[in-house]
Amino acid sequence: MVESGVTGAREAPPAYAVEVGTEPLDRPARNSVGGWPCLDDGQEWPECFCGDRMALFFQFDVPADVEHFAGDHLLVFHCLAHNDASDPQLVDGLLVPRYWDAPQPPFPRPFWRALLQRRARRPRPEAEPSVRALPLTLRPFPDTPGPLGTSAFKVGGTPYWAQYPEYYTCACGTDLAYLCQVPEGVDFAVHPGLPEQPYSVRADTCQMFLGNEIYLLACPAHCDPAALWPVNQH
Ligand SMILES: [Zn+2]
Ligand SMILES: [Zn+2]
Repeated sequence: MVESGVTGAREAPPAYAVEVGTEPLDRPARNSVGGWPCLDDGQEWPECFCGDRMALFFQFDVPADVEHFAGDHLLVFHCLAHNDASDPQLVDGLLVPRYWDAPQPPFPRPFWRALLQRRARRPRPEAEPSVRALPLTLRPFPDTPGPLGTSAFKVGGTPYWAQYPEYYTCACGTDLAYLCQVPEGVDFAVHPGLPEQPYSVRADTCQMFLGNEIYLLACPAHCDPAALWPVNQH
C-alpha cells in the first residue's frame, strides 16, 4: 500500500481576525477595546508598580475551537505612564517564578498584565477611563498555512514572526502556547485631555510595548490567571 501522504497532514489551526468597530460602546460588552472589564470575582483591577491603575486595552472570549484556551476570557492591561518592550527573565531555562509580578529591569515589576479568566460572568460597573470603549468582533478567516501566518490582529492561527520564532516555558514547567497576535504599530484611541503617553506617536492614541509586534503566549496548564508572556519583536 502506498501512503497517500495526506493522512496525518496537520490542519491549519482556526484563526479569527480581531476587528475593532468605530461606534463607541455605551454599555458593557464582553468583547471590547477599553470598556468594562469582565473579571473573576475577587480579581482586582490590575495596578502598575507606579500606583496607577493599568488601562484595559482589550478583552474578548476566546472562541470555542481555539486549542487550550477555548472559553477563557482574555484581558490585556498596560500602564499608560510606562511604555517599554518586554524582556523575558529566565532561570534554568524557564521563565522566573511568578514572572507576571517579577522584576522587569529597570522596573520593579511588569508594567502590563494579561489575564485569562475562567469565571468572569459579569462586567465591572466601572469602565476603563482612558482607552475609548469600542466594539471588538472576532471574524473567522483563513490564516496563511505554513510556518508564517498573516501579520494581523488575530486570535489563534499561526503567529507571523517578525524575527525568529520565540517560545518560552512557564515557571510551572509547561511550554507556553501562542494565543493572540497584535501587529506592530496598532493605535488605541484615548479620551482627550490625558497626559501624553511616553514615546507615543500621537496625543489622541496610545500603544502597548512601544508599538512592537506582540505575541501573547499563555500557559495551557492555567497555573495562574496571569501566566501569560507577551513576546515583543519588530
Ligand atoms: Zn506605571
Ligand atoms: Zn504555567
